[in-house]
Amino acid sequence: MKAPAFAYVKPASLAETFELIERYGEEARLLAGGQSLVAALNMRLAAPRVLIDIGGLREFAGINVMEGTLAIGALTRHRDVERSPEIARHLPLLHQALPHVAHAAVRNRGTFGGSIAFADPAAELPACSLALDAKFLIASKERARRVAAREFFKGLYETAMEPGEILLAGEFPVLESGYRSAFQELARRHGDYAIVGLAAHGRLANGVLSDVRLAYFGVGATPVLARNAAAAFEGKAFSDAAVSAAQAALEHDLEPSDDIHHSAAAKMHLARVLTGRVMAQLAGAER
Ligand SMILES: Cc1cc2nc3c(=O)[nH]c(=O)nc-3n(C[C@H](O)[C@H](O)[C@H](O)COP(=O)(O)OP(=O)(O)OC[C@H]3O[C@@H](n4cnc5c(N)ncnc54)[C@H](O)[C@@H]3O)c2cc1C
Repeated sequence: MKAPAFAYVKPASLAETFELIERYGEEARLLAGGQSLVAALNMRLAAPRVLIDIGGLREFAGINVMEGTLAIGALTRHRDVERSPEIARHLPLLHQALPHVAHAAVRNRGTFGGSIAFADPAAELPACSLALDAKFLIASKERARRVAAREFFKGLYETAMEPGEILLAGEFPVLESGYRSAFQELARRHGDYAIVGLAAHGRLANGVLSDVRLAYFGVGATPVLARNAAAAFEGKAFSDAAVSAAQAALEHDLEPSDDIHHSAAAKMHLARVLTGRVMAQLAGAER
């Protein structure tokens, strides 16, 4: 199918973008890489009268490290995050996750900000942001504010952003000494959206795990930080007993629903399988 007719505008500055948002209101949608929005238009799931192409706001594309924080501009393409030496060094979780985001052709166009703003519950980057306790910088014409990832993802394709706001950047604490990350997902084919995935981050000192953060995706309307499962590893060495305790505790963290391909029970099973695999990877105990 083809998209319904729309007008197209490409502002050259953030100020001009806010003017256009004000002028067209709910009739307009922001266009970044177009890898989700254009598909939605073609399938007639969205029919905005105007597309505001923010791809020209190059000041919001790029990766910067400053004083313990790594900022990824919203317009940074997935491919640039995937290939960035700063990301590999400071945010190994994102470095591991990026090759799983769609296929190379989509990563060449899709943007970090588009993925976060779109908030697909099976997407990798929202879950990684949650595991790494990132913040998002959001601006409207009147003000700028920061929202923690744990408060940003509100529901199915729903975020804390209000009408008139634009996501400008994600801000991540850089990897601290002693901390490690691990990432895996189960998908029908590499590059497909995950059936279930897990982004994990935590401390490993003298073989003892602490401060573990487990962010599951594909298991509900938003990515989920599993606090009960993570607590099963606190102050412990990696062991089969700790994995079993975490797998049991997931009952209190996750409430997957049936979808057209998988039952809730199958998703819970896969989440438990991933818990063992990813924590073994995090602890350097892969068997
Ligand atoms: C075949 C295929 C497979 C895919 N597989 C995966 C996958 O496995 N994992 C995955 O995570 N993604 C996947 N994607 C989606 C891809 O990652 C997209 O790039 C991403 O979801 C959206 O980014 P975009 O820049 O293309 O945004 P767009 O499509 O341009 O926009 C998406 C939405 O976000 C809004 N938006 C965009 N930028 C901003 C901003 N800065 N501020 C506020 N709102 C904004 C837009 O208005 C729109 O509503 C896939 C896409 C395709 C076509």
